[in-house]
Amino acid sequence: EVTRHKKPDWLKIKLHNSSNFGEVARIVQEHGLHTICSSGRCPNQAECWSRRTATFMILGEICTRSCKFCATATGKPLPPDPDEPQKLARSVRLMGLKHCVVTSVTRDDLPDGGAEIWAETVRAVRRENPDTSIELLIPDFDAREDLIDTVIAAKPDIIGHNVETVARLTSQVRSRARYEVSLKTLSHIARSGCRTKSGLMVGLGETDDEVLAAIDDLVANGVRIMTIGQYLRPTLKHLPVADYVTPEKFATYKEEALRRGMLYVESGPMVRSSYMAEKAMQCCGSK
Ligand code: SF4
Ligand code: SF4
Repeated sequence: EVTRHKKPDWLKIKLHNSSNFGEVARIVQEHGLHTICSSGRCPNQAECWSRRTATFMILGEICTRSCKFCATATGKPLPPDPDEPQKLARSVRLMGLKHCVVTSVTRDDLPDGGAEIWAETVRAVRRENPDTSIELLIPDFDAREDLIDTVIAAKPDIIGHNVETVARLTSQVRSRARYEVSLKTLSHIARSGCRTKSGLMVGLGETDDEVLAAIDDLVANGVRIMTIGQYLRPTLKHLPVADYVTPEKFATYKEEALRRGMLYVESGPMVRSSYMAEKAMQCCGSK
């Protein structure tokens, strides 16, 4: 099936070069820093690093879940590294980031789901980089309000949690996660007054109406920033791509999302959750 769908031209990687990118890349290499931008071989790396934005993963590299779209390893994670928040804060400083995005694997094995390390990470990055905006892409924490509150209390600038796909496909695409639980997590974040963000992948077999319904659900639960991007199959063991959504359709989704109440939307074939993330800081002043 997937061989039928050859990657269209709009998914070919653009190569950017700028002195900012070269400088950040040199620092990353010199200090052995670890970013998702590099390890995930994100196509937007040069562009994001030139804009002084990068994404980091905390709480290890092994996830307790095994979503069908995700290349992260599954298994029994190692205990959290108590020095990780400080190390990350230093990476942000060395890279001179204006906006830093932090994400993690899901730690269903930890009693607090890793919430305390999340909060400490925000505090450490803030202490060492008072001018850098901080965006989190958190797991669902099983919608436990006490855990989400621990993260909120550290005062990140944006908190995101991705629904990833439309309601109907959730059980086929994500592992253990439920669409309704993700919406609960999001609405709890939104009620705190923090800028709330979510993301959808398309090209998994969803219909236009299902995408629009998901946008409505997100808006109804307080989400005002969203990303919509093309699903790409990381390996043959992962879900096949059902279709390559055209740039025109991405533009239509964006228009619809804005019309339906979103305040900031990135929608396009190469869009990832953290693409152009810093731009949403200016237009959503809920906090
Ligand atoms: Fe890094 Fe995210 Fe930009 Fe990709 S989109 S390069 S992961 S900041
Ligand atoms: Fe990947 Fe997140 Fe799913 Fe874990 S929970 S497999 S990191 S998408």
